[in-house]
Amino acid sequence: MTDYIPYGRQDISQADIDAVVEVLRSDWLTQGPTIERFERAVAEYCGAKHAVAVTSATAGLHVGCLSMGLGAGDWLWTSPNTFVASANCGLYCGAQVDFVDIDPKTYNMSVDLLEAKLIDAEKEGKLPKVVVPVHFAGQSCEMQRIGELASRYGFHVLEDASHAIGARYKDRAVGNCQYSDLAVFSFHPVKIVTTGEGGVVVTNNAELYKKLTRLRTHGITRKPDLMTEPSHGLWYYQQLELGFNYRMTDIQAGLGLSQMQRLDEFVERRRSLAARYDALLSDLPLSLPAQHADTRSSWHLYVVRLQQARPAHRKVFEALRAARIGVNLHYIPVHLQPFYRNLGFNEGDYPSAEQYYREAISLPLYPGLSEADRDRVVSVLTALLGDERAVSAATA
Ligand SMILES: *Cc1c(COP(=O)(O)O)cnc(C)c1O
Repeated sequence: MTDYIPYGRQDISQADIDAVVEVLRSDWLTQGPTIERFERAVAEYCGAKHAVAVTSATAGLHVGCLSMGLGAGDWLWTSPNTFVASANCGLYCGAQVDFVDIDPKTYNMSVDLLEAKLIDAEKEGKLPKVVVPVHFAGQSCEMQRIGELASRYGFHVLEDASHAIGARYKDRAVGNCQYSDLAVFSFHPVKIVTTGEGGVVVTNNAELYKKLTRLRTHGITRKPDLMTEPSHGLWYYQQLELGFNYRMTDIQAGLGLSQMQRLDEFVERRRSLAARYDALLSDLPLSLPAQHADTRSSWHLYVVRLQQARPAHRKVFEALRAARIGVNLHYIPVHLQPFYRNLGFNEGDYPSAEQYYREAISLPLYPGLSEADRDRVVSVLTALLGDERAVSAATA
């Protein structure tokens, strides 16, 4: 039987394994020096001043929102074409969540629609406190325009860069925070580089950095200059606010530090696989990923859209899975999840994201994808789209 080709997977080298073993043999499994080294590596790569490692991007989005004071009575806006975590973080803080529909070309939040919604929200006195642009598939949002709107309307910008470490925008690394307050990366195994589970928040803002480091560890400080009264002694610490245990371990950071050394190589490999897909799929009735001129994607995902109603999207998807090709669909529009429908969202609220959802398929893309496997994806898809009977046969 042919091997199953997943849509994404990690790439672990002997050097990665050695790095983890080295931490296991050291004095510190957590709260040790490897965390700081990993944080510095990520900050330096991105050109940001500070980085805070946390247990996941979800945790990073949560403390990121809290650090900017998001709370009850506030609004967070994000894209409907994202993983639920980009929206849930607003609800964790007691804020309300709303969405801005996508640009039908890049599948990122439409900045034109963002601006239109801000104009309306200003009239109603319901401007957002935090906007979360999501760099979908690894392609940066139009951050300069979003930054200009943030200055004009006074909201904070938290980039959900879970897909986009290694990506570039206007010739600089995503995560430099030139146009945002914070950016969050995910190190889940399907993402660009991995720590098993993990996330990093980057920022240029020293105050936010201080708050983030405190929120990640119970809201506790051990620094006398941050305490409300003189220290009682060497044992003393103070809890100043309600925080969490969102600390990444040094074991994970050891893996992350080793993986960071191959980040550029990973992105280069993804880019070349994407370019081959572009060439090999160009004659099929598909929309291939469009790239904005200011961006250089990290290619977390390679998403095609079916142009034709027949053979139906669902049949093609099922036939690919039946052929042991692990296609996926990123994303089910968040507002159509039962939980969000219960908050009052409906079908039809964000038509571009919904239309995209009816047509999109994420093809396998990861550094270890072999030419032979890539060719199998292409030939099965070609057969399916070229011959409707192949779809019926494969799904029969
Ligand atoms: C993966 C992902 C997250 C969550 O990342 P975790 O590290 O698994 O918490 C959030 N947002 C987006 C867009 C993601 O793809």
